[in-house]
Amino acid sequence: MEQEYKIITSDGLEYGPIGASTLKQWYLEQRLRTTDKVFRYSDNRCGHLRDFFDVDSWEHVDIIQPFLDGRVLILVGDITKQRVDAIVNAANYTLRGGGGVDGAIHEAGGPEILAACEELRRTQYPEGLPTGEAVMTPGGRLPARYVIHTVGPIKGVHGARDAELLADCYRHSLTLAVRQGLRSVAFPAISTGIYGYPRDEAAAVASQAIADFLTRDPSLQEVRLVFFTQRDATTFLQYQVFPRTG
Ligand code: ADP
Repeated sequence: MEQEYKIITSDGLEYGPIGASTLKQWYLEQRLRTTDKVFRYSDNRCGHLRDFFDVDSWEHVDIIQPFLDGRVLILVGDITKQRVDAIVNAANYTLRGGGGVDGAIHEAGGPEILAACEELRRTQYPEGLPTGEAVMTPGGRLPARYVIHTVGPIKGVHGARDAELLADCYRHSLTLAVRQGLRSVAFPAISTGIYGYPRDEAAAVASQAIADFLTRDPSLQEVRLVFFTQRDATTFLQYQVFPRTG
């Protein structure tokens, strides 16, 4: 039977008895911190979350479901932690950083990424990166070697072209990766945060675009779709349109 725990958060909120799998999910949803207090009922042991669990191994590598013979993996996690050849950034046209994933990637990857973005602005995109396009920079201090920056559509701004532009983000990012000879790429759910693309619609568009690309291109071995919360991943799984293979 699963061990049961009581948890007292730094805000003084108390939960329990709850099992380890719920604790893990709450941690991944950032409802808990490693320093939150934990009590284990079975042996009356007290400590912090990190004393009981190897929280680093929880770091967002929960593979939920594979598609296309394992070439597409759906995970709950943090995109900045992914050990892949390239992670994709849901950037904005300025390429100068922002909130959400963009902020997290620049923060984790350090100044080398921003410097490379500035160079791209100066040399190739003085007006900024158009929606649906993608560019590549080094990954700085990230575990990923490269960052592919793409600008998702702000829902409602491009009318009927929203879906096409969102599909372009995936297509163009994958095309860049293949051109660079990369084998593994991780995407966040582009446009589904600040840019307001409904998660159900984005799931269908993203999965269709990725499936079309991978069925034509044999070189990419792994495309990870990384969702920040279990709930987001579940919505994706409900609305994705990957073909059922073997
Ligand atoms: P956009 O402006 O394209 O909507 P956001 O950064 O606001 O981009 O959000 C895109 C998606 O990325 C959202 O679904 C958000 O929950 C998710 N997200 C935010 N931070 C991370 C992260 N560190 N790892 C994975 N996904 C993230």
